[in-house]
Amino acid sequence: MRIILLGPPGAGKGTQAKSICNRYSIPHISTGDIFRKNISDNTPLGIEAKKHIDRGHLVPDELTIDIVKDRLFQEDCSNGYLLDGFPRTVKQAEALEEFLISRGENLATALLIKVPTEFIIDRMTGRRVCPACGASYHIKYNPPVNEGKCDVCGSDIIQRKDDTEATVRERLEVYDMQTEPLIDYYGKKDLLSIVEGTRAINEVFESICNILGSDKK
Ligand code: ADP
Ligand code: ADP
Ligand code: ZN
Repeated sequence: MRIILLGPPGAGKGTQAKSICNRYSIPHISTGDIFRKNISDNTPLGIEAKKHIDRGHLVPDELTIDIVKDRLFQEDCSNGYLLDGFPRTVKQAEALEEFLISRGENLATALLIKVPTEFIIDRMTGRRVCPACGASYHIKYNPPVNEGKCDVCGSDIIQRKDDTEATVRERLEVYDMQTEPLIDYYGKKDLLSIVEGTRAINEVFESICNILGSDKK
């Protein structure tokens, strides 16, 4: 099962990705998490990515595409995977399609989590994340059991540097310009499914499971 998650920043992609990947036993591939790991390890990739991420801009396509391809070549992706935050441009979508064709593979679906802009600022400024395992929390809507600590791994949770109101507004503009066209791209290929992302986290997950079905591969 190969799945793409689409949706604006704050739609709940990371939150739902964790549950989907648990349920279907597939790896969660988040380009944002890969970049953040490289930033904290101070790798050349991290240093380059940070310049763009801090401004709310996208990391250049060539760099991003190479990283995702490297990841998809790994053994644990052979039975499927969930891509969270990739593709984000038509160029990335075309590169993914080429990659899949070259391996005789296809996508199960591109799942769009639909959330109107007026929800986003509140979600993003209240977001807290675990730098160790990538789990996502919200101070109001999804607080951890022990304040300030990750439920999954116990690490201290933090606020991302790019989750300020100004950067989120910039990211929303980038989404509208560069990522939203993918809705049409996958719609035309008959690969798009849509879930309403404004309901509670567990209700959104239920709709996703209804779309993906009980099939595990
Ligand atoms: P994305 O990966 O799409 O940017 P996240 O999964 O990190 O989004 O979610 C953004 C913020 O919104 C987080 O703080 C998360 O806890 C919260 N959130 C996610 N889904 C919901 C929901 N259905 N209702 C309310 N808050 C949510
Ligand atoms: P969110 O889901 O909150 O929007 P992510 O964690 O997916 O954020 O991504 C954080 C940042 O990493 C993005 O704002 C962007 O700068 C960069 N990034 C992540 N994925 C991509 C991608 N596919 N192409 C280019 N830049 C990316
Ligand atoms: Zn954690």
